Amino acid sequence: MIEVNSLGKRFDDLEVLKGIDIQIGAKEIVVLIGPSGSGKSTLLRCLNGLEEPTEGTIRVGGIEWNQAMSANMKKEAIRGIRNLTGMVFQSFHLFPHMTVLENVTMAPMTAKKMPKEQAVRLAESLLSKVGLLEKRDVYPSKLSGGQQQRVAIARSLAMQPQIMLFDEPTSALDPELTGEVLAVMKQLAKEGMTMIVVTHEMKFAREVANRVIFMADGIIQEEGVPKQFFAQPQTERARKFLRQLD
Ligand code: ATP
Ligand code: MG
Repeated sequence: MIEVNSLGKRFDDLEVLKGIDIQIGAKEIVVLIGPSGSGKSTLLRCLNGLEEPTEGTIRVGGIEWNQAMSANMKKEAIRGIRNLTGMVFQSFHLFPHMTVLENVTMAPMTAKKMPKEQAVRLAESLLSKVGLLEKRDVYPSKLSGGQQQRVAIARSLAMQPQIMLFDEPTSALDPELTGEVLAVMKQLAKEGMTMIVVTHEMKFAREVANRVIFMADGIIQEEGVPKQFFAQPQTERARKFLRQLD
């Protein structure tokens, strides 16, 4: 589903990703962890076409981006990859002047030219999935942070992505609101969505992830199934990181 080879990203002199290799199968739930500045967000942004890598290859679904392609082919590849991936950020970025329903119907109607009735039906089913159908006509400012994030998830799902990328989706929320967002993500995982999740919620990682990838200094230091990774981290770097979480 996702294959990344020798992926590199530099910002001028700063080498942020230094040769990342990852393979993720359909329906896999991967939790990506690592210290601040290790390149987690940059990696997700590369996988979603928000950031252009400076080296390597990315394959998402059947679409390949590689460093050697012509500028036009790269652009085409990034467009294709963006269509296959949905992304949810720490800050929800809902459109403040649109109702909840309008937030969710907008992208399918504009980017996919979906007829309005169909987009509304889709949005209603997604809002119902995240438990917010009764808020359909409300503006985002009237919602709690947890509710706004659940709308952001519904909005992302409305583009019917094959892969969902989450970048610290609960980090901006009060602790009592994180549970409702994690519950929606758990449900998505159960339904077979392929997901990469950057999070500090280790309980979520233990319960939901098939695999934990630990990044530091722009490389993957180690990866493993959660049970093994948390019980017996192989590198001193990971042991130190986990100690700091306690
Ligand atoms: P955090 O846990 O704090 O979110 P992260 O692992 O997500 O950290 P990134 O946001 O990927 O880390 O950043 C990795 C490095 O790349 C940092 O040193 C950051 O300053 C740098 N960086 C990220 N985006 C840019 C940019 N657009 N221009 C220049 N440097 C950037
Ligand atoms: Mg980040």
